[in-house]
This record gives sequence, C-alpha cells and structure tokens, in this order.
Amino acid sequence: MQAVPSEFLAIDRKERANRPFFDLDLRTPEVRTCDFDDVVIEFDPERAMVEAARCIHCPDPAPCMVACPTANDIPSAMWLIEQGRFVEAAGIYHKTSSLPEVCGRVCPHEALCQGSCVLNKHHQPVLCGELEAFTVDYERRTSGYTIPIGKAKNKRVAVIGAGPAGLGCADILIQKGYDVTIFESKPAPGGLLVYGIPNFKLSKEVWQEKWEEFEKAGVKFAPNTYIGKDKTIDGLFEEGFEAVFIGVGSEIDAKMEDTPAQTCPACTKPQTSSSAATWKPTSSLRVCASRLRSADAL
Ligand code: SF4
Repeated sequence: MQAVPSEFLAIDRKERANRPFFDLDLRTPEVRTCDFDDVVIEFDPERAMVEAARCIHCPDPAPCMVACPTANDIPSAMWLIEQGRFVEAAGIYHKTSSLPEVCGRVCPHEALCQGSCVLNKHHQPVLCGELEAFTVDYERRTSGYTIPIGKAKNKRVAVIGAGPAGLGCADILIQKGYDVTIFESKPAPGGLLVYGIPNFKLSKEVWQEKWEEFEKAGVKFAPNTYIGKDKTIDGLFEEGFEAVFIGVGSEIDAKMEDTPAQTCPACTKPQTSSSAATWKPTSSLRVCASRLRSADAL
C-alpha cells in the first residue's frame, strides 16, 4: 500500500505526462577510457526533483511498485523527492529494501520498475533506479543512516554467505533484535557486490559505506571461513547458534545464450549477470522476503 495515496493528489496528470524528458548525463568515452568508474553522472538535487515530478502517480498499486521484486513504494518516494524531501524518500526505500543503494544501481530497471512505468506508452519512463540511488546517497552524505536495531532477544543466528541474500537476512534479523554473525569463505564481505560487479556499476566506496552500516549495527563478520571445511553446520549449532541461514549463491557461470558472447573466443568466461537482463520478478521471491520481514519465527 502506498504511503502517499495517489487518488488524493491534486495534480494535472496529462500535463505531467507531457513534460520534457532529460536523459541521464554520461561521462564522455575519452574520460571513461582512463578509469573503470561509474559511467553515469549522478543526479544533483534540482535534477532529481525535476525527474521525480514527471511521475503521474498511478492508482495504487502502481505498475512500477508491482514490478519491483521488493515492492518499493516508488510513487510515494517520487512525491517526496519532487518536494526535495530526500531523506524522507530514503526512508520509504529502507522500509522494503535492505540494499537500496545497490538496487538503484544494478537492478535491470528497464525490465522492472522503469519497464512497467505507464509513461513508456507515449514517452520515456521515470528514471526510478537513478532516483533511488541518488536519494539514499543524499541521506548518507547529510543525515546518515543507521540500521534500527531491535530489542535484544539474546538469540544467535549464523548467516552463511556475505552476499546480497545473507546481507538482506542479516539486516532484517538485526532489526528484530537477533545477534547475527555472517560467515564468508572470502576475505571481504559483499559476495557478488564486491567480487562480481564492476566499479562502473557499483563502486567499492559505495559498498564500503554500506558495509559500515552493518558493522555499526553490530553484525559480526567471520571472513575466510568456509562452512563445510573450516566449520560445519552441526558445529555452528554446538557453538550456540539457534538458527542458520544459508545464502551462498552460485559460483557456476551461466551461459550467455543467444548473445554473440556465447561463441566469441575472447569471452572465455561469461558473467552471470546476463540472466538479470531478462529476469522477471516472481511472486515466490516476493513472498519469501515479506515472510522474513513479518516473521518472528525463532
Ligand atoms: S508507473 Fe511511472 S508514472 Fe506510474 S507511479 Fe510508477 S513511476 Fe510514476
């Protein structure tokens, strides 16, 4: 359900739908060839407000919200952003997403929120992803964000894998008051975010700042610990953990089917991210995340 109900907004939808679209500003190829940094020049506050004000506020449930795997309340965020209420807008994203600064950058928006935006019919969609990243970055640089920690339950949970799944689980559990330790086979936390996504999509600085939020919230991290070799799941229970979440992902490469890369001799090791471009959200994923948020199962 939208925090800002669309039906009560006194706006001229037709006029909004015809407002000019300004595409993302990109760094020039000459500059980009000198580094591996972000291709997109991030929004400034004025640009973000203009872009968010293109949203016509579709009736609840808005198609962009339905298409979002975490059901972000995008129309409400757009309403707050267009008024310059960026920190409040960031709060909307935090309600449903554990990694909004990551999703704003790496989600295949053209297949999800932006792909579902009704403005596609005659115009360009609202740039929801870029606005999400801008909003959460703005919050971090101004007021900062602290994960709200729940009342201590004195129950320990082991999370195996410090990638997006494990981090999402840790975020939700720490907010419910559980004592969380993340075990990771690699030296650094982040999984795919660190070892798979290049800097021009998600910089290591953005990730480092995100990880500091987890550390400040009290999430413990055990690096270089391969569960199955260095420790076992039975051993974790013997150590006093009362539940174990396994989010190890897949280290098996996906084939880049129907792309030139499949037969290109230079592309010896295709990346798994190709599957994300054609991926559609499933109801089971949404149910899984919402169950975890509402559950108090331990
Ligand atoms: S679908 Fe597009 S126009 Fe409609 S609420 Fe979402 S962002 Fe706004």
